[in-house]
Amino acid sequence: MAPWFRSATGRGSVERVRVVMRCGDVESLLLEFLEGELAPEVEEEALEHVAGCPACELYLAEYADTIELVARWGGEVLEPGTANRILAAVISELA
Ligand SMILES: [Zn+2]
Repeated sequence: MAPWFRSATGRGSVERVRVVMRCGDVESLLLEFLEGELAPEVEEEALEHVAGCPACELYLAEYADTIELVARWGGEVLEPGTANRILAAVISELA
């Protein structure tokens, strides 16, 4: 599991208060982010934000649920939490 994902769901998420990006920034970058087209430092900032922002974490999870990437994991019906797992896998693949 990627470190950012663990911090996003674990008890230590409040420690990461260095929020540079805002929710709107992450949303506007999302497509490039998922396609791995962001500059590494921008992607890192986005991940930092998502790690400390439950709203964006949910947004990414829901987005990941809707995109074609799901088909790469067999197209199985997703249960709650599965999108997060897929997203973590996608991000670790891009890294
Ligand atoms: Zn946010």
